[in-house]
Amino acid sequence: MTDTQGTNRPRLGTTVLGYPRIGPDRELKRAVERYWRRETTAYELRATAAELRAATRAELRDAGLGSVPGNTFSFYDQMLDAALTVGAVPARFAGHAAGDPLDLLFAMARGAEGVPALEMTKWFDTNYHYLVPEIGPGTRFRLAGRTPVDDVVEGREQGIPTRPVLVGPVTFLLLSKAADGAPDGFAPLDLLDPLLEVYAQLLTELSWAGAEWVQLDEPAFAADRTPAELGALRRAYARLGDVAERPGLLVAGYFGSLGEALPILADSPVDAIALDLVAGTADVDAAGALTGLRDKTVLAGVVEGRNVWRTDPDVALSRAARLLGSAGRVEISTSCSLLHVPYDASRETTLPADLVERLAFAREKVTEVVLLGRALDGEDVTAELDAARARAARPAGRDDRVRARLDALGADHYRRADGEVRAKAQASALDLPTVPTTTIGSFPQTGEIRKDRAALKAGRIDDAEYVRRMRAEIERVVRLQEGIGLDVLVHGEPERNDMVQYFAEHLAGFAATEHGWVQSYGSRCVRPPILHSDVSRAAPITVGWSTYAQSLTDRPMKGMLTGPVTILAWSFVRDDQPLGETARQVGLALRDEVRDLEAAGLRIVQVDEPALRETLPLRRADQPAYVDWAVDAFRLVTGGVADSTQIHTHLCYSEFGEVVAAIDALDADVTTVEAARSRMEVLDALGSGVPRGLGPGVYDVHSPEVPSAATMTVLLRAALDRIGAQRLWANPDCGLKTRRETEVVATLRNLVAAAAQVRAAG
Ligand code: GLN
Ligand code: ZN
Repeated sequence: MTDTQGTNRPRLGTTVLGYPRIGPDRELKRAVERYWRRETTAYELRATAAELRAATRAELRDAGLGSVPGNTFSFYDQMLDAALTVGAVPARFAGHAAGDPLDLLFAMARGAEGVPALEMTKWFDTNYHYLVPEIGPGTRFRLAGRTPVDDVVEGREQGIPTRPVLVGPVTFLLLSKAADGAPDGFAPLDLLDPLLEVYAQLLTELSWAGAEWVQLDEPAFAADRTPAELGALRRAYARLGDVAERPGLLVAGYFGSLGEALPILADSPVDAIALDLVAGTADVDAAGALTGLRDKTVLAGVVEGRNVWRTDPDVALSRAARLLGSAGRVEISTSCSLLHVPYDASRETTLPADLVERLAFAREKVTEVVLLGRALDGEDVTAELDAARARAARPAGRDDRVRARLDALGADHYRRADGEVRAKAQASALDLPTVPTTTIGSFPQTGEIRKDRAALKAGRIDDAEYVRRMRAEIERVVRLQEGIGLDVLVHGEPERNDMVQYFAEHLAGFAATEHGWVQSYGSRCVRPPILHSDVSRAAPITVGWSTYAQSLTDRPMKGMLTGPVTILAWSFVRDDQPLGETARQVGLALRDEVRDLEAAGLRIVQVDEPALRETLPLRRADQPAYVDWAVDAFRLVTGGVADSTQIHTHLCYSEFGEVVAAIDALDADVTTVEAARSRMEVLDALGSGVPRGLGPGVYDVHSPEVPSAATMTVLLRAALDRIGAQRLWANPDCGLKTRRETEVVATLRNLVAAAAQVRAAG
């Protein structure tokens, strides 16, 4: 029976906006990588993929969702899939177009036979990365792929109708980049109209295949948008609403409120709108005045899609209930796709039971959605709601000592002397040449090092043996740097699996999962630590390694820490207190570490904050508050040292526009940044903004190429012209962890030679 209450479409039902695709045990990663190594055939890879899709559909149907999302699978990335569907394949891949479509897909994702891959970048403020489509005036959109249609058919054959999920046309174009060679002033959005015709055709084919609903994701509208971009949204959904034979249109906003986009969608002919109500209630507040919503379904995204905590059913239901008067129908959903959380918290049997009780991964979240949906429908689920309340109310672990210490901090804990005063003190303490040479921290992580770590974990070697082996590696790296002639040395970070996980493993308040994998990009998965309670440092973490390294040499050795913003950004973080408060706890622990390093004789400490920009809130109005706490936390870490101790920070990107002021406010003595690929353009932004030491990277660590001394000299001279010899440092773009030893040695020799030339001439 068709339920038409408030909408002329079949009822949508409770749902989730998307689901993990990698498989509970990373089956997809294994299958894809075997295929890349040519150990299996495309046929076998497709069979694994079909099994994963079938299992996901069955699981979501069996859990009791009213609407099962489809097309959530991808061999690599949903933006790449969208590009292939609409025929946005750059000409350089023409040679790959004739073979198996999988090979074209992987060529675009990873590059092949000298043809460079599409660029990859962060998906909004998550740790997922998508491939950036390249659109030029010559791009001719056409319905070139039918994966979404095939997926609907596959579901039907399984007996499970699905609602295919697609990247919406406007977000697709806003996230694409203008192809190389496109004329100035061209923007991908210029091609909206022809793209809409392809989407229109796709909608019709989906309808023929039996889809009753389709979901078009438009998360780009969680950020500030220009009137022209908002106009594009209006035009897009007027056109798609107009398609004669089409499924019901669900447009999903997520990663924030839709803001100005909401009235536009409310006035459009779309049938349903998904709102992210975890991000806030701004859209709920606005909904009452939007009469256009009265004949639409609104999905209340009240179950957090990108963090791992249980939902408070009272908060969730009251937010959803507030929509009841405004919308034709209200359904429960997640705030965004569940792609960003692991599969199943109940498998985490090594975690403390009371922590597991607090966790909800994808499976648990589906159960929450179903329960809340039943409650909203008026079913008597009192007992289940009581149980959910109890779990959501379980408190985080509390550490009164940490809280008391933080309460006692005054402004002087965050403040250092004037930059000039510090510079003088440091010059006499360190006695460095002009344009000092250094590296960012890590040296190549050899297979040997990884084997040693695995052996320690498996109990095949003991702690003492592990320490002996790592010390041997540190000594080797120190001698290597001395031989090359670098001025400021590093210990190479051999003891670190990962710059965040390492600290999470050594701080109280964090837990590591066993199966908590999430997709980072393509076949790459990460297992983010879970910051679940008050954070503290039981004992020094890096001091032993760094003092050992310093003991081997007279040259200054840099202590090496990951900053609080980055530690938070790459973990799942508790949401029961403001992020800034959690950042201060991490900051306090790291402050103690910095002071211990100083006391142990380290004269330079580097605090890496590569995530500073990526966690910047999407809307400008939210940015100042973020910058405030981020800067505060960094200054808490670094504000406790003597003037003569030099603080470095490192940031791994070159577009600083929005964060220049924040970087300046960090007040580090030396800032090293990525700059090689942008050929020092970064200095235009930072040159005047940061009046202290600056090391624009002259070696692109993502490339296997060894830059010559001449190449690096040119870059350094360009930098010197802009910021002067007194401030300039010579260093690579980023850590050397993923490079090969031979490349690193050759490059660093050239780097030292380049710095010497610049010095001699300057
Ligand atoms: N110190 C770290 C390293 O060199 C910094 C890594 C990073 O910026 N992502 O590996
Ligand atoms: Zn970096």
